[in-house]
Amino acid sequence: MRPVSISPSSLGPSTDFAVATGVAPRPVPQLVPFARTGGDGGQERPGMGWRSDSRRGEARPKKHPVPDSEKMEVQPHHRLGGERDAVEDYLEPGRKAAVYTTIRFAKQLGKTVLEIGLRPRAHSQPLCAGCGQRCPGYDTSEPRRYEFVPLWGIKVFFVYARRRTNCPTCAIHVEVVPWVQGKHHLTTTFSWFLARWAKRLSWKEVAEAFQTSWSSVFRAVEMAVLWGRDHVDLSGIKAVGIDEIQWQRGHHYLTLVYQIDEHCKRLLWIGKDRKVKTLLRFFRWFGKERGKVLEFVCSDMWKPYLLVIANNANQALHVLDRFHIMAHLSKAIDEVRAAEVKDLKAKGYQPVLTRTRWLLLKRPENLTGVQEGKLTDLLRYNLRSVRSYLLKEDFQLFWEYVSPAWAGRFLDGWCKKAMRSRLEPMKKVARMLRAHRDLLLNWFRARGTISSGSVEGFNNKAKLTTRKAYGFRTFRAIEVALYHTLGSLPEPESTHRFC
Ligand SMILES: [Zn+2]
Repeated sequence: MRPVSISPSSLGPSTDFAVATGVAPRPVPQLVPFARTGGDGGQERPGMGWRSDSRRGEARPKKHPVPDSEKMEVQPHHRLGGERDAVEDYLEPGRKAAVYTTIRFAKQLGKTVLEIGLRPRAHSQPLCAGCGQRCPGYDTSEPRRYEFVPLWGIKVFFVYARRRTNCPTCAIHVEVVPWVQGKHHLTTTFSWFLARWAKRLSWKEVAEAFQTSWSSVFRAVEMAVLWGRDHVDLSGIKAVGIDEIQWQRGHHYLTLVYQIDEHCKRLLWIGKDRKVKTLLRFFRWFGKERGKVLEFVCSDMWKPYLLVIANNANQALHVLDRFHIMAHLSKAIDEVRAAEVKDLKAKGYQPVLTRTRWLLLKRPENLTGVQEGKLTDLLRYNLRSVRSYLLKEDFQLFWEYVSPAWAGRFLDGWCKKAMRSRLEPMKKVARMLRAHRDLLLNWFRARGTISSGSVEGFNNKAKLTTRKAYGFRTFRAIEVALYHTLGSLPEPESTHRFC
């Protein structure tokens, strides 16, 4: 279904939202109890005394005394211009889907809320949810409240009793209304409003700021993501980067595919796990034709990825990116260091290696003054950790080369050194680099055409998103959050933006 956002300008000729919501000072001193409209509020019924279209301006709502048992504070409601202020039907532009009846203040959990009563346009037939055609009505369900964008901190609800359609082809369905999608209780406008804020604040903060629940914000973001994914433009993608991040505890991974073209960088796809099957699903989603015109694919040396890339985008230059390779080296240093700390402790030596982890993992230019001093001290020891650190720093030179041939020579030299180091984790990395020599040198062949730092940048942002957002225990939630923050998804054009 095509979603629609209701904005003040679609509310009818009186474009001023303050007028449309009845806040303009035009009070009619009448009391209408909220609860009494329960059964057929908003629905035109002969017995209710609502004026009908033919007797415009004659009949007024009946006065009902408020029973003491109903402790609802009801303010004088404001009558609007009836059919003039209608919610336009997005399926048939120009045709009104509903008409305002009453606008009043009510109490909800001790707080004042604004309720806007709606009823179907007179003599209108409901829209079938199955076939999208107008069909005869079957009956009318209980009125429900649909939350709209709050006004000056006051919650705003549409109150509408949905009709059920008696469609000759699709049996009985609840009618389609333009301001809400499916069974949501948030209006589409409010959902987009929350989703836009959820790009700037955490979901929890959005829920607190707009007095709604975390799950409402989640559903709003989910709606925005679904719409965006349906309307995403996949044309002209030349370079993609494949990355994995850990989520949850233990060995749970997500495979993320980014577009890393100079002109457009965004998250394209997320899959659970990092198996052959996972990446195959990406290519299935992406489409064979689009896979065949990829020019660059950037990834880690992870075997399942290499296999799938070779099979599905073999014309593309496959680049092993710097970020992932340096991550392998850092991991090797970490292993060497951890083993050595244990060893030194067992042999009763001074604990020179405690609190040195970041000294060895950080780039020297990023160290603070104190850290620099500590590192200089540490480097005087002939420790295995120090030797592996120096090997890693040495490898940084590799990336400075311009010609693939010279870079290759450097790589061979480095691997030889690493293999003689008697440091098993470093030797492992060296073996891996040797095995992927060609792909590594593609880095120099692709130089300048793909943006090298983008995979690393996305990786950091993705990790931040998953870390920041507590409550993301399910894959669905994390998927929605990542697409929302990193996907650059399109949004429908609306006549009015609330934020
Ligand atoms: Zn139908």
